[in-house]
Formats: sequence, C-alpha cells, structure tokens
Amino acid sequence: MRAPDLSDVLAAARVIRGQADATPMVPSALSARLGCDLWLKLETCQPTGAFKLRGALNAVAGLGAVPGVICCSTGNHGRALAHAARARGLRAVVCMSSLVPQAKVDGIRALGAEVVIHGHSQDEAQAESARRARVEGLVEVPPFDDPRVIAGQGTIALEMLAQQPDLDTLLVPLSGGGLAAGMALAARAIRPDIRVIGLTMARGAAMQASLVAGHPVELPEVESLADSLGGGIGLDNRLTLALCRRHLDEVILLSEEEIRDAMQALFHEDRLVAEGASVVGIAALLSGRVPARGRIGTVITGRNVDMDQFLRVITGQDLQLGEVIVKGKRYGA
Ligand SMILES: *Cc1c(COP(=O)(O)O)cnc(C)c1O
Repeated sequence: MRAPDLSDVLAAARVIRGQADATPMVPSALSARLGCDLWLKLETCQPTGAFKLRGALNAVAGLGAVPGVICCSTGNHGRALAHAARARGLRAVVCMSSLVPQAKVDGIRALGAEVVIHGHSQDEAQAESARRARVEGLVEVPPFDDPRVIAGQGTIALEMLAQQPDLDTLLVPLSGGGLAAGMALAARAIRPDIRVIGLTMARGAAMQASLVAGHPVELPEVESLADSLGGGIGLDNRLTLALCRRHLDEVILLSEEEIRDAMQALFHEDRLVAEGASVVGIAALLSGRVPARGRIGTVITGRNVDMDQFLRVITGQDLQLGEVIVKGKRYGA
C-alpha cells in the first residue's frame, strides 16, 4: 500500500471543501500566561464535533457503488463515518467496545448508523468489524490506518499554515496516528523546519510503546479522561507507525492530572468545551513538558465529551477512572 504524500492531502482538501474545512483557528487566552503565541485550531466546530469527519469524507468519496460501510471506533470516527455515509445514502455500521462513553454512542445512533457494542477493547471491536465486513459484504473504513483517512486528517495542517505560515511547532494529539501522520507529512512537505510533536496519555500509549519497540505493540486498555486516545495501533499496522517514526520529532506522555488541569484551563480561560483527548497539547505546555516558546499551534480535536464527567472536571471534583481515582482540584487552587 502506497503511503500518502502532500499531493494526496491537497486532493483531500478539494474533496472536503465546503463540508469539513470551515473550522476557525483562534489565538488562545492562555498565550500571555504561557509566554508564547498559542493558536487553537477548533475542530470542535465540525458538524460531528470532531476532526475525524475529514478522513471519513475523503475515504467515502473514494468508494464506488458499495452496499455499505463499517468501522470500529472509539466514538468520533464512527460518528464521522455515519455522517459521511448518510450524505451518500449508504448503510453504516459502527463497532465499539464497552469503554466508549454513552454520549458518543447516542451521537452515532442519531445519525442513523447501526451500533454494535462488542468486547472491552478497541482491538475486540476491530475484530468484530472485520468479521461483519466479510459476512455482510460491507467496506471497512479504518479509523486511522488508511491512506485516504490519513490524507483527510492532514488537511488540518494545510489550513493552519495557510492562516499562520510562521508557526514553528505543531502539537498534535496522538492515538492510532492518522491525525499526527497526516498533519506531520503535510506540514513538513510545506515547511521542512517545522517541529511536530505527538501528545498522548501516559496510561495505554500504544503508539509510543510501538515506536520504542520498533514494531506494533498491544497494551491493556484503561479508562482515561482522553477516551478518544484509547486503543492500539493494530498489530498489522501498515502506514501510521512508519509515518509517525519518520515525521514526528517527539512523543510526550501526559498524566490524567495534567489532562484534567488543561481541560479546566481551556474552559476557564478560553471558555471552550473540549474532550480530554483535545487538550493534551495544552497540558504539555502548562506542565512544562514542552517549552512554551515561539509560535505554537495545537488542534482542539473534539467536543464530544460526556457532560456529567466534564462538569465534574471543571468544578474540580474527584474523578473515578476504572480502578483509579483522580483527586479533585479546583481551577487555580
Ligand atoms: C481519534 C481522535 C484523536 C486521535 O487521532 P488518531 O488519528 O487516532 O491518532 C484525537 N482526538 C480526538 C478527539 C479523536 O477523536
């Protein structure tokens, strides 16, 4: 399978034009406190509440006459595929594990997709998606390890650099790596000197473990504030591991406390509602893990947060994440 390059990202930009390219990039109110120029690309403004619409639209546009599409998802890719399939009058089936928050399941059902809850990990949901694809003759649209999906996500970097050509660092949330691979390959083709850093949660960082090992590694999946960053990279990973190895300068891991602090900061200072997965770039700056210097752009990847949990986060209450309790802390305390 040919890895995507800048020409594929430019082609994807034409495909999604008018459907998923209208998200704003705004200066963050946190810039002054951090001492850098911080820009937020608000993928929270997508019609499906997350950036994954870009990759799903680009992938579905490449399909001929098919009976329907199927995927596994931690939630946001399923919602994106449901939206893209509905626009083309296609049947959509979304396989998810029991770890996926109810708010995400509801959002997918509301778009007319069939939801299958299967197993307790993204890997189990993936196996179910592959099985049903075979049995029911549906086309699988993977959440990240697909050239059209990667190219679609890469369009975010084109838009950020078109608006602010002199950004010197991009901070990109990282899970399966479709977003980071697409953005990094596009950004570096345009600006070879730009730094691209992948950020993810410390608990269950499968891409980071795989980069260190030099091959895909499976990790136990646990509950996290950054639920959209959960799941492995696939033991048969074809594209995103190699692209992340080639194009990312660094991968940095964030604790649940650091993610909580960043959700609070983004809410209280920028007045934005965002998922834990979205704020890892801000968490890296606030915690000092990435030096706050120069002109930095980060992607606020999605808003599809469970509102009960979000309210607990921003009001500083204790949070139960599986076996772990994150002790409450009020913003600014
Ligand atoms: C999927 C997702 C990510 C990570 O994207 P990958 O391509 O899997 O690395 C980050 N944030 C949100 C909100 C997501 O839904």
